[in-house]
Order: sequence, then structure tokens, then C-alpha cells
Amino acid sequence: MEQRAGLFGYPLSHSISPAFQQAAFDHCSLPVRYDAWPTPPEALGAEVRKLRGEEFLGANVTVPHKETVMPLLDAVDPWAKLIGAVNTIVNDHGRLMGSNTDADGFIRALREHAGMDPQGQRVLLLGAGGSARAAAFAFAKGGAASIAIANRTLSRAKSLARDVRKLAGDVTVVPLEGGTLESAAARADLIVNCTSMGMLHGEAEGRTPIDGRLVPPGALVYDLVYNPPETPLLREAQGAGARTLGGLPMLVYQGAASFERWTGKDAPVEVMFEAAERALAGLPNES
Ligand code: NDP
Repeated sequence: MEQRAGLFGYPLSHSISPAFQQAAFDHCSLPVRYDAWPTPPEALGAEVRKLRGEEFLGANVTVPHKETVMPLLDAVDPWAKLIGAVNTIVNDHGRLMGSNTDADGFIRALREHAGMDPQGQRVLLLGAGGSARAAAFAFAKGGAASIAIANRTLSRAKSLARDVRKLAGDVTVVPLEGGTLESAAARADLIVNCTSMGMLHGEAEGRTPIDGRLVPPGALVYDLVYNPPETPLLREAQGAGARTLGGLPMLVYQGAASFERWTGKDAPVEVMFEAAERALAGLPNES
């Protein structure tokens, strides 16, 4: 029997997860079809219920459902509960188990593609949405020395800071512009963009969340936006002499961790990277 997995989100027209997940299943000769399942909020309950069927391995979950999906599941693991978001559902014989692989994917990309360990780093985190929550908890768990959170909506940054302080001590909130942001940037070893600014087809396409002139030359700038691969922020950071890391490795690693939860097999990450890069370039899947 062909099994199925897929991605809940809305809208989903630009997602490349189906391309690299399908490439992984095909490479491992697993008879699984992975689809994009564009699901408006009012349809999520009914669609998640269908996942209990024996043909379904599980699902990925993205914006805007990572929080609202949690009460629809039978269990959510403690790490996902702490982050407050689920991006992976496993169908365990009709029981739906939620977990979060974003934070682990985020740190694996940092370690393996920028050679940086979160331990002892001074971090400036831009954004306070779902990905910022995963990044902030990942830094707290990884022993970051300090985390400054800047977001357009200050109340969201405050709420995230309150939650992260349960794990780490030195967590502050700064406005997304002005002198406090400048000094937080000047102190940072690592500046992470977790906003959607700069994203292709987004409302802030072509824009940066922070002026490149504020980036210290010794810092690493990590942009979670993966399309375009070289965002305006990364270009400006390179101009300032900083090291940079784009969002594609995190995307592939969080997907690889989901794949491993569904199948119990090691994910073929090289195959997934190749398929993700082809999809981003607008090329068809090779398989
Ligand atoms: P959310 O919708 O949860 O959060 C969006 C964030 O962006 C909020 O902090 C929001 O601020 C901010 N923002 C949006 N528009 C603007 C703007 N015009 N000016 C200033 N701030 C703005 O999204 P996610 O956290 O899930 O995703 C954020 C980005 O990260 C996306 O581009 C997504 O593609 C990428 N991402 C990448 C992943 C990867 O694996 N590489 C994984 C997950 C996400 P406010 O609170 O004020 O609205």
C-alpha cells in the first residue's frame, strides 16, 4: 500500500518541502507520496483527523498552524510544548504525536554550516513569531550567554522573552529600531533574522530587518529566509565584512528530522539538499 505524508499550511504555493521530502522517500525506495496540503484555518480540524488513517505516516506543519494544531493532537512532546509550536506529526497507529524539529534543525545548521556552537554566544534575535520561538529556545538550551529579542510588535517579543527566561537568565527585549538596537547589534556575536523580511513574494521582499551598517564585522549573520538564497540582509552583512548563513540548511535539517521520525531510517540529507536546491532554482525533481 502506498503511504502518505504531507505539509499543512496556508498558503503553500512556494513551499519546497514536497520536493525534498519526495526525493528522500524515493531515494530510500519507500512507497510514500508526500504532498502539499494547503489548508485554511477553518479546515484544519477535519484534515488533521484524517491523518489517523493507516495510510498516513504523518505530516509537517507550517504557518499559520504550528500553534493551533497542538490541541488537535493526542500528545505533544515536552520540547514542543515549551517552544509552543508543533511542526511534525507522527501517526502512531491512529494516535497523533506532535513534536518540533525546527529548533534542532536550526542548531544543526549553525554547527555544521557555520562551525558555531551556541554555547557562550551573545545573540541578537530579530522576530518573535514561530521560528523565533524555536531559535530562542534552541539558544537557551544550548547555553547562549545572552539573548536580545527585537520585534516590530514589542508585546510579542516581551512574551517570548518571559517564556525563554524559564530556561536562560539573560534575555532582554529591544525595539526593532533606535539606539538600544544599535548597541545590541554592536555587542552581538550572532544576529539571526527570524522575520519574514526579505522573503521572495512576501510583503517585505527586498527589505532588511536591520541596517547592514549596524552589523559588526566579526559577527555571524544567520537569515532563516531561504528564498532568495542570498537575501538583502546577507548581502549587506557580507558588505560589512560579517560571515553569513542562509536558511536552507535549517529547512533541510528540520525536514530530515521529521523524515527520521516517520520512517525510523536515517534521512539522506545530501539527496534532500540537492532536491531543495533544484526546487529553489525552479528546476524539476530529478527522480
Ligand atoms: P511568523 O508569521 O510566525 O512570524 C513572522 C515574524 O516576522 C514576526 O516576528 C513578524 O513581526 C515579523 N514581520 C513580518 N513582516 C514584517 C515587517 N514588514 N516588518 C517587520 N517585521 C515583520 O513566521 P515564522 O517565524 O514561521 O517565519 C519567519 C521567516 O522565517 C519566514 O520567512 C519563513 O520562511 C522563515 N522560516 C524559515 C525556516 C527554515 O527552516 N529556514 C523555518 C521557519 C521559518 P510581528 O510580530 O510584528 O508581526
